[in-house]
Amino acid sequence: MRILITAGPTHEPIDAVRYIGNRSGGQMGAALAAAALAANHAVTLILGPVSVPFPPGATRIDIQTAQQMHDAVLREFPNHDLLIMAAAVADYRPKLASAEKIARKGNLTIDCEATPDILAHASQLKRPDQRTVGFSLEAPGQLDRAREKLLRKKLDMIVYNPIQTMDSPAIQATLLYPDGRSESLPAAAKTEFAPLLLQRALALFT
Ligand code: C5P
Repeated sequence: MRILITAGPTHEPIDAVRYIGNRSGGQMGAALAAAALAANHAVTLILGPVSVPFPPGATRIDIQTAQQMHDAVLREFPNHDLLIMAAAVADYRPKLASAEKIARKGNLTIDCEATPDILAHASQLKRPDQRTVGFSLEAPGQLDRAREKLLRKKLDMIVYNPIQTMDSPAIQATLLYPDGRSESLPAAAKTEFAPLLLQRALALFT
C-alpha cells in the first residue's frame, strides 16, 4: 500500500519574520509514519515546520504554508492509495504578507482569508480505489462537528479528538464513518494508537 501522510502545523506569513501558526508538533504523523513503515508500506510524508524526529525510510516533502501543502498533496495523491491528513492546517492566512518586517506602531489589524481546504479538494480527485482519512480536533463532546466534516469533506473515516490532544503524546479518539458507525477508543499513547488507526484505515479497502 502507498500511504500519504501529512503532519505538523502550517505557517502563514504575516511579514518577513512573523507568521500565524499553531502548537501542533507532528507527533501523530510521526507515529503513523513509523507504524506504516513497520508494516512494510511505502510512505510519503508531507511535513509542516516540525521539530519531532521523523522515521527515516519515508519520502519526506517539507512545506511551510497551507497553499504549499495543498499543492504537494494534490500532486502526490494520485500516486497513493491512502491519504491520512494528520496535519493541523492553519484555517486562516493573512491576505497580504509584507515582504519587510512590520515596524511596531500603535495597533495592528491583520486581514485574513480562509486557506484552501486540502482534504475537500483531494476527495474531489479521489478514485474508487483510494481512501481519505481526516482528523477533527474539537472541544470535548463536539462529535457533531466532526461528523459534519466527515460528510462535507467526503472522507472514508474521521478521527475525532479533543483539543488537549494537540502537542500531547497521548490521544483519546473516536473514529467516525460515513454510514453512521463510530468506535470510541480508550486514551492511549500516539505510538500505540497509530498501528490501530492504520489497521482501521486498511480495513476501508475491503
Ligand atoms: O481544520 P479542520 O477541523 O476542518 O480539519 C479537519 C481535517 O481537514 C484535518 O484532517 C485537516 O488536516 C484537514 N484540513 C485541510 N485543509 C484545511 C484545514 C483542514 O485539509 N485548510
